[in-house]
Amino acid sequence: MKALIKKDTIKTLTTHYIDGVFVESHGREVMDIIRPTDRQIIGRVMLADEEDTRRAIAAAKRAFTGFGGSTKEERAEILRRLHEAFAARINDLTDAMVEEYGAPAVFCRVMMESAANIFLSAEKALHELPLTRSWGKTTVTLEPVGVAGLITPWNANSFFLSAKLASAVAAGCTAVIKPSELSSLQTQVWLACVQAANLPNGLCNVVIGRGDVVGAEIVRNPDVAKISFTGSVAVGKSIMRDGAATMKRVTLELGGKSPNILLEDVDLDKAIPTSLAIALMNSGQACVAGTRLLVPKTRLSAVKEAIRETILNFPVGDPTNPKTAVGPMVTQKQYDRVQTYIRKGIEEGAEVLVGGEGRPRGLEAGYFVKPTVFVNVKNDMTIAREEIFGPVLSVIAYDNEDEAIRIANDTSFGLHAYVNGTDVGRARQVASQLLAGRVAINGLVDDQQAPFGGFKNSGVGREFGTYGIEAFLEPKAILES
Ligand code: NAD
Repeated sequence: MKALIKKDTIKTLTTHYIDGVFVESHGREVMDIIRPTDRQIIGRVMLADEEDTRRAIAAAKRAFTGFGGSTKEERAEILRRLHEAFAARINDLTDAMVEEYGAPAVFCRVMMESAANIFLSAEKALHELPLTRSWGKTTVTLEPVGVAGLITPWNANSFFLSAKLASAVAAGCTAVIKPSELSSLQTQVWLACVQAANLPNGLCNVVIGRGDVVGAEIVRNPDVAKISFTGSVAVGKSIMRDGAATMKRVTLELGGKSPNILLEDVDLDKAIPTSLAIALMNSGQACVAGTRLLVPKTRLSAVKEAIRETILNFPVGDPTNPKTAVGPMVTQKQYDRVQTYIRKGIEEGAEVLVGGEGRPRGLEAGYFVKPTVFVNVKNDMTIAREEIFGPVLSVIAYDNEDEAIRIANDTSFGLHAYVNGTDVGRARQVASQLLAGRVAINGLVDDQQAPFGGFKNSGVGREFGTYGIEAFLEPKAILES
């Protein structure tokens, strides 16, 4: 596999980005960066401590005194510059994501194009969002909430950083960013784009460090007004709890166990490739993955056969190969987690249709797992209830549409749902009854102006478009007698 960084040239990243410059880390702990395709060390990063974090927060606080009063046009101009800087480096952003994280190159490129485009989407949304409304002798303005703490996971780090920064900038907030420490190399390319966009000093500060050190300081610091977090349910809950002490505003984008309903009249030639793509996207390490496939009993044997044939078009392997659909898991921990769930599925009585435990042949060097499809799954089995975050699909059979809707909604999550059927009117009817922040009909569809976020344990608040900007704004009314 292509090695961008050779072993004898391993570098240690020692800086954080504070107040518009790269500054040496005060924290001294060093962490290895391990390439998931072959478990080689490809870099090292010196992790920030609380002192680095406080310096970044102070810089953001100083910058807010100016940027908090910026006009729509000034913010729009910065968003356009960010778009241009990111659009110019799509290849580098993609290569870094593939190398450090291991997702298939085709997927990474789409995500990095989205990361560049989200700045223009935020600009469009900003123009559509009235920041002042008045009636009679009352005037309401939407004020930037203050310094925003942005915290991201490893599964699409650069995209989430861009999405959060775009909304924060559109709202007039300054930012202290804690990327996933597992995404340190990708973050360097991301930062090069930010630098090229020539932002006011202190608008965007980035400290790379552990969640329980840097993340915890951001959550407890009284100078941070708002947290926008993407990650696990457990950490999301701790942020809500710990942030309450300083009355943090929070946006939490958490996990999912999304249902994908095949309706009775579904065209399997279209729906099975789409459903496998939805289940296996980002090597299954996707919060929006459709991991519960609900199938009418009358179509079950045809679905099984179609899956057996179609899965051959989703090869696992070298993520730099454009034909690869599934790359390695990000870490040993994630590899072990997926194996544990596959074992649990077998123990609880589900039947392995394809895949199973262990590494695929010839891919023993990395954290590769076998894309696995279970049939005979009951919705109360662990593999149907918990987020696996790997390429594991559970097929659940249903008797009628009401039962499909009941099973789809019988989950503690509510991030995304999918409905596939030939009669679109009927598919819309079903979609309207699903408890999820987004429901996609007949495919994997995205719209950067549509709200993104979850019901129930999938989180609090929404990102993207005007919804995402409003999450960084505080309404203020001035009333005259
Ligand atoms: P994680 O919750 O372990 O970590 C996410 C981020 O939070 C990391 O930067 C981490 O360092 C930081 N963190 C950890 N402890 C913290 C603390 N005490 N205070 C503040 N920050 C802390 O999640 P992960 O393993 O990086 O990512 C996988 C999870 O993310 C999955 O559960 C997945 O569903 C979720 N996810 C959700 C979305 C979404 O938009 N809903 C998107 C992608 C991933």
